[in-house]
Amino acid sequence: MDKKLTMDKLVNLCKNRGFVFQGSEIYGGFANTWDFGPVGVELKNNIKRAWWKKFVQEDVNTYGVDAAILMNPKVWEASGHAQSFSDPQMDCKSCKYRFRADNLIEEHSKGETSAEKMTTKEMEDYIVEHKIKCPHCGNFSWTPIRQFRLMFETSRGTVEGEKDVVYLRPETCQGEYVNFLNVQRTMRAKVPFAIAQIGKSFRNEITPGNFLFRTVEFEQMELQMFCHEKDSMDFYNTYKERAIKFVESLGLKEDNLRFHDHDKLAHYAKAACDIQYNFPIGWQELNGIHHRGTWDLSRHSDFSGKTMDYLDPFTNERFTPNVIEYSIGADRLMLAIMCEAYEEEVLDNGETRVVMHFLPAIAPYKVAILPLQKNLSDKAKEVYAKLSKKFMCDYDEAGSIGKRYRRQDEIGTPFCVTIDFDTLEDDTVTIRDRDSMKQIRLKIDDLSDYIQKAIEF
Ligand code: ATP
Repeated sequence: MDKKLTMDKLVNLCKNRGFVFQGSEIYGGFANTWDFGPVGVELKNNIKRAWWKKFVQEDVNTYGVDAAILMNPKVWEASGHAQSFSDPQMDCKSCKYRFRADNLIEEHSKGETSAEKMTTKEMEDYIVEHKIKCPHCGNFSWTPIRQFRLMFETSRGTVEGEKDVVYLRPETCQGEYVNFLNVQRTMRAKVPFAIAQIGKSFRNEITPGNFLFRTVEFEQMELQMFCHEKDSMDFYNTYKERAIKFVESLGLKEDNLRFHDHDKLAHYAKAACDIQYNFPIGWQELNGIHHRGTWDLSRHSDFSGKTMDYLDPFTNERFTPNVIEYSIGADRLMLAIMCEAYEEEVLDNGETRVVMHFLPAIAPYKVAILPLQKNLSDKAKEVYAKLSKKFMCDYDEAGSIGKRYRRQDEIGTPFCVTIDFDTLEDDTVTIRDRDSMKQIRLKIDDLSDYIQKAIEF
């Protein structure tokens, strides 16, 4: 990653080069929502495709689903999300750590005072009166209490007063748990097997920000591996390895990645770890791998009344499978990939070019077709028509060739093909490599194979 990169620089590049625009920009924006532009949508789709290829297509034991965003509200009771609706949250203004106000009071009074029945005002007054300090940094500098509503609510039904509350899902994985039996039966799947999904999640985050890092609407790429308890730690470790290999294969450098094992586990969890990436804002979670025990299937079994047990056809053992979860945010990964790819390169002539060194397989456009002069555009459009059947191609005939190269460097296009007057004579073109800037001459008929080879993943 280029040391000179700041989040502001990246946001500007994204805005000016069609990666990402501020959501609802002409209305002054809408906090922490982002729209992916023509270049960004290609990059993100390529990342999602690469993930699907590695974890679904190339894995005989993994099946994909695309579950509904709106789920039966009982799902959120079973998952525990419904209960955390009204947690009163306070942030420490000094160290930015966040706490539940009721916990602060109860811990301070050593359990003598219960905040259960206190109003927000009463809790705030209590904290001021007892000068309860931040357990992390020791300062006394609180934001007001805000009710933590993780899930976005909406309603279903057309008649006012008779509407039912439904929620936008805060995580995609419940779609896999509720389809465990469907997938097992229809695919004749034998445990161990995994169900994977890529889809949108919505979280009413209290502190969103840092561009794509934390938004209120984002995409998750995740899978749930259902297995016997005796195999579960092996799968947990395997997915840790597979997860880090995957992000490295997309170009994230080993030095910018690390495992972070969780000290504090949810009561049902047996192990949990994040892979962190060294973003310009510091080391932060990129993805999570969690050993969730039998919690999810048992809860859905209890709440739905349908048994989620599996009968092993070989051993005749009946058991509730353990779940290993591997989950990564598509937007957060795209941010990491952009950070890693960014370089301000000083050239031999003293000029600086900004170049995005995306792995060719995920680069938004694979090739740009650039006629040297406007009167070569017919031939150039022929080449475009041919190559665009196979690859995402850009076409640009405006401005000097140097400027057009720079623009392609900034959006990370691995190849630029220039059409010149020789092309009309011998059907050859010049193809320029983004990283080395070297140019070679190729036959138009050989372009497709040449590019295909470079973008294999
Ligand atoms: P964090 O601690 O950063 O809030 P989390 O532990 O709540 O994340 P998970 O619920 O495990 O995250 O979600 C899996 C992945 O989804 C995260 O590792 C991250 O890549 C992504 N993700 C989670 N919340 C957001 C968000 N608000 N915006 C963008 N991506 C997110």
